[in-house]
Amino acid sequence: MVLAQLGESLVGALARMAKATVVDDKVVLDCLNDVSRALLQADVRFETVRAVQASIRSAVNLQSLAAGTDRRRAIKHAVVDELRRMLDPAAGSGKPPCFVPRKGRKPASVVMFVGLQGSGKTTTCVKYADYHRRTGFSPALVCADTFRAGALDQLRQNAAKAGIPFYGSYTESDPVRVAVEGVDRFRNDQAAEGCDLIVVDTSGRHSQEAALLEEMRQLAEATRPDLVVLVMDASIGQAAFHQALAFKQSVEVGAVIVTKMDGHAKGGGALSAVAATKSPVIFIGTGEHIADLEAFDARSFVSRLLGMGYLPGFMDKIEDAMTMPMPMPPDQGQGLEQLLHELTTVKGASFTFTLRALYSLFRLVQSTGPLRHLVSFLPAGLLGDKGKQEEEGQQAKIKRYMTMMDSMSAAELDGADPMKMMMTKQQQSRINRVARGSGRPVSQVVELLEEHKRMAKMLSKFAPAHVKRPNNKHIK
Ligand code: GDP
Repeated sequence: MVLAQLGESLVGALARMAKATVVDDKVVLDCLNDVSRALLQADVRFETVRAVQASIRSAVNLQSLAAGTDRRRAIKHAVVDELRRMLDPAAGSGKPPCFVPRKGRKPASVVMFVGLQGSGKTTTCVKYADYHRRTGFSPALVCADTFRAGALDQLRQNAAKAGIPFYGSYTESDPVRVAVEGVDRFRNDQAAEGCDLIVVDTSGRHSQEAALLEEMRQLAEATRPDLVVLVMDASIGQAAFHQALAFKQSVEVGAVIVTKMDGHAKGGGALSAVAATKSPVIFIGTGEHIADLEAFDARSFVSRLLGMGYLPGFMDKIEDAMTMPMPMPPDQGQGLEQLLHELTTVKGASFTFTLRALYSLFRLVQSTGPLRHLVSFLPAGLLGDKGKQEEEGQQAKIKRYMTMMDSMSAAELDGADPMKMMMTKQQQSRINRVARGSGRPVSQVVELLEEHKRMAKMLSKFAPAHVKRPNNKHIK
């Protein structure tokens, strides 16, 4: 996905800023220009980029920052917050959050899908209904697309496959009438007694013609949906903004679903759609199959986009823990000291994160007490990005990794590039020995080395500038 490239460029921009010896107006400006360039290259609309730039600039006005403020951290937070706001404009704005259907709600919630033909609207309706079915809802589907021949059969067949009740008509050509009948049926019919979520698919066209927009307005007026979802193809690019705005002017769009995120689209167009509708992205489509729909959370997406899990938060927490006024149990204090030292081993100009440092990090994460919460700040790839739900799995993974590291030699644990040291053909015996010694398959030893390498790469971008002693002197 090209969005990953956007992530890399943004990480690069933040890393360059972090390396500057003095953070002055020029550094802020350079960082802002780097961020803007990255967004423009990802196809985000120029005006949106300008607005993002202005917000970041006002959030990090160096003259108005209190003396002693960590400027690097202030800039980084402003960039990440602004990206998050781009994806979920209601967050922190005081606006009511996007409508979320409730299980067992009576009368059933109505969610109406709008979008251009080919955007993936019909497919997404079924995915959305099925997603809710799997989480305990009793959804139903209504086909109010009387424009596209084949839409009715497509929805009917997919609904049948997913075991979701369906309403549509081969004879009625008025979409408003079909929609009203469908909603009435699932709200009032004895047979549909348990239904708590009605998903209405509507017509599309190849462009936002006045007739389509008028039809959407009439449908919304007649069915009074709790939520109107705009479906956008990720590959739409710059046209997304005007398209989304046109829909927003006809119906009260409350959320956006971006489809085809599995393809080569840059995805920036979708971000512009969010800016136009001031509505959050709630799901993304990642394939043609019914299960290829992912609930979307702007916070974790931005973290993933930046390729760093909650790493900045993690670093902040380490700093906070170091300056915590309450006394820390001595072993944890020591662990942290050691970790900070190990995290920031600098050899010449290059930064080294050894396997032994990773081991210390894991030990720290496993400890109970005030540092326990650090686990949620670790990079997503390393520990999964589903927070508490995956914590047990994460802990098991950490244990596995530690067992394998227990079977390594000091040279392997302290080596600057363990991947290189252990993965060459001549060194194959090292991997086999670790696998045998720890009772794990060779593939898991390789996985550990890969994870370590990835994390070392990420940390090298952030650690030197951010990991500090309480008295703010960088560790040399
Ligand atoms: P509609 O005209 O907006 O109702 O679009 P359809 O639902 O018929 O989808 C158009 C095409 O896009 C179909 O071939 C779908 O299988 C495909 N499609 C929909 N969503 C996705 C997605 O998230 N990823 C991929 N790769 N294809 C998708």
